[in-house]
Amino acid sequence: MTHNGSYWFDSLAPDDLGLAAEPMPTQVDVAIIGGGYTGLWMAYYLSEYCPHLKVAILEAEVFGFGASGRNGGWCMGTSHDVEALLSQVSTRATGLRLARAMQATVDEIARVADHEQIDCHFEKGGNLMVATSPFQVTQLQDELKHLHQVGFTEADYRWLDAPESRARVGTASNFGAMFTPHCAAIHPARLARGLAHRLKARGVLCLESTKVTGYVSGRVETNRGELRADKILRATEGFTPTLKGQKRAVLPIYSMMVATEPLPGSVWDEIGLVHRETFGDPRRVVIYGQRTADDRLAFGGRGGYYFGSKVKPVIPGDDPGLDSVAQSLRDLFPVLVDYKMTHRWGGPLGVNRHWRPTVTFDPETGLGSAGGYVGEGVAASNLAARILVDLVRGEDSEILGLPWVDDLARNWELEPVRFLGARILQYAAERADASEAELGRPARFWDGLFNRFVD
Ligand SMILES: Cc1cc2nc3c(=O)[nH]c(=O)nc-3n(C[C@H](O)[C@H](O)[C@H](O)COP(=O)(O)OP(=O)(O)OC[C@H]3O[C@@H](n4cnc5c(N)ncnc54)[C@H](O)[C@@H]3O)c2cc1C
Repeated sequence: MTHNGSYWFDSLAPDDLGLAAEPMPTQVDVAIIGGGYTGLWMAYYLSEYCPHLKVAILEAEVFGFGASGRNGGWCMGTSHDVEALLSQVSTRATGLRLARAMQATVDEIARVADHEQIDCHFEKGGNLMVATSPFQVTQLQDELKHLHQVGFTEADYRWLDAPESRARVGTASNFGAMFTPHCAAIHPARLARGLAHRLKARGVLCLESTKVTGYVSGRVETNRGELRADKILRATEGFTPTLKGQKRAVLPIYSMMVATEPLPGSVWDEIGLVHRETFGDPRRVVIYGQRTADDRLAFGGRGGYYFGSKVKPVIPGDDPGLDSVAQSLRDLFPVLVDYKMTHRWGGPLGVNRHWRPTVTFDPETGLGSAGGYVGEGVAASNLAARILVDLVRGEDSEILGLPWVDDLARNWELEPVRFLGARILQYAAERADASEAELGRPARFWDGLFNRFVD
């Protein structure tokens, strides 16, 4: 399979999908399983710091086929676990260090893209979290106050009043927004494919259509034969449950996206996003949008979970789960009623049982892994890969002090508990959002239930 169904893959140069096939090696120093950002960044930094090592990346489909080539393109200077760390006095300093490392990671990605001449449409226009209801003004301003109390400044997060916020993004209702400059919009597939091309040019063995069927310390089995490797690093995030013995290691949750046709200047006069700011709002069924470099709106929302951790490699465009995402976009921008949504797709992302990313490496077995970014992995995968590479090199570094290192999660529950838990979580999130939209005040009961399930 080469196409992941996304607008991003559709907009790549026609000859970009698929690298020239390479013969299967029998022995390498490092074998990386999975050719998304996590695996590609691992190979990138290994080839930077240890050019003498023979590195292979094994990708079942094509590089960027997974979440990395089909996401919302928010390259965020934060990660999912920062908020929880900042909320406790005992972990606040750690949360701030992680946040600063993530902010620097956005610039690191820009640096590499620039240095390697990967034209991934990187534009650091920041992020707007829009209050679409008056009560969300208080909610977001409280959050802003908290962020300033714990050590961020106006240069990190600031309030835009309603006129300024509306001028930035013309959503149907907009009562102000929390703005951070620490976020860039990118074309996700261009970053993934661009990295793959550069790695191949550097001599990394970039093996597409090479599916790992099992692995143990020192040995990887694939559909193309066996490979011996001193170190084996897994970077399969939301696809992890398809690997032998890893069914309950990571929960695959789906995110769904749509993209409009290119929109004319008159529509952009109304919508704004002049600096390609990324935008969302505080609802629990997360939404995210960006203006693409070719003037489309690419917009997504969190989808669901399938019984038994089923991994659907491609979501068909007529999947009913995509209808609510399309509707949310039209509700935000009624002007879109006259314009087509040309693309609809989705895909799995990975959640660890403790809802935090994790990076681990055991020097004795040579086995390592990174992932579980809870839908916020575009930038986080770069930091995770750098951490893993430092662990592999046995090199002490500041980022090894970050909380993801060896923060192992237990397995997810057996079915049907897993499915029921995911369903209750989704239902509570939807009910809380619907109630708040209807009544214009916080939905305390549903919010309480929702929060019980995300810890
Ligand atoms: C629709 C969507 C929107 C998102 N939006 C954003 C966003 O805007 N911002 C953000 O920060 N995050 C976002 N995310 C999350 C982010 O994209 C992911 O966290 C990140 O891309 C994960 O990268 P990865 O390399 O770890 O995994 P992936 O990119 O999923 O790569 C895993 C790779 O492993 C391969 N693989 C699987 N099994 C095998 C096997 N047995 N053998 C060999 N290869 C195998 C797969 O084919 C796949 O290419 C989104 C995710 C989705 C699905």
